[in-house]
Amino acid sequence: MIKIRDLNKSYKMGANSLHVLKGINLDVEEGEFVAIMGSSGSGKSTLLNIIGMLDTHDSGLYELDGFKIEKLNETKAANYRNKFLGFIFQSYNLINFKNVLENVALPLYYQKVSRNKRSEMAMSYLERVGLKPWAHHLPSELSGGQKQRVAIARALAAQPKLLLADEPTGALDSTTSAEVMRLIQEINDEGKTILMVTHEDDIAHMCKRIIRLKDGVIMSDEKIQQVRV
Ligand code: ATP
Ligand code: MG
Repeated sequence: MIKIRDLNKSYKMGANSLHVLKGINLDVEEGEFVAIMGSSGSGKSTLLNIIGMLDTHDSGLYELDGFKIEKLNETKAANYRNKFLGFIFQSYNLINFKNVLENVALPLYYQKVSRNKRSEMAMSYLERVGLKPWAHHLPSELSGGQKQRVAIARALAAQPKLLLADEPTGALDSTTSAEVMRLIQEINDEGKTILMVTHEDDIAHMCKRIIRLKDGVIMSDEKIQQVRV
């Protein structure tokens, strides 16, 4: 599903340039559940953002589902993202003035699904994450764990081929993290391919493969015995 060869990325800062990803090689098959680890500044989010087409690489090859990803214009990239990708972030990124149901229905709006069908589908994803009773509440009325479950329902609503999560449990206490991870494991059990950035070793071991980045280089890449929650 993902094929990356000798991928490089630098950020330009005035006259200087910071080489953040240095010759990354990576293959991810359908159904995998991969943790990306590494210390702060090692390039985890940069890699995830390139895979998620939120940013572009400078050189090397990136193929997603057989398509070569190059410098797309933003409209094309957005279409691609809406069709293929689901995102989950540490800070949830919910729209605060829209209720929970509307938040979950948003990707379906971009996919031009009719209003009635949108509500129906969004409700079924909310049920999936156990939050149907909260459909007509605002995000501000929810706990952190509930907000992240709404974000997960929203990511799933797009029916993505690939789910990308950047520190999805970063803002949650350990009990709530475990609940969110159980849900993410179930989603992977159902066949969804997931890439997840995390700082925490315990969380990484709930995935099935761990990639460790150091200063923009992959130091290790190993399949592991998944810890179930
Ligand atoms: P953290 O664990 O703190 O989230 P990370 O591994 O996700 O770190 P990145 O966000 O990928 O790290 O950043 C890698 C390096 O690139 C850092 O030195 C960071 O300061 C720099 N960087 C990230 N985004 C940009 C940007 N838009 N412009 C310039 N430099 C950036
Ligand atoms: Mg990061």
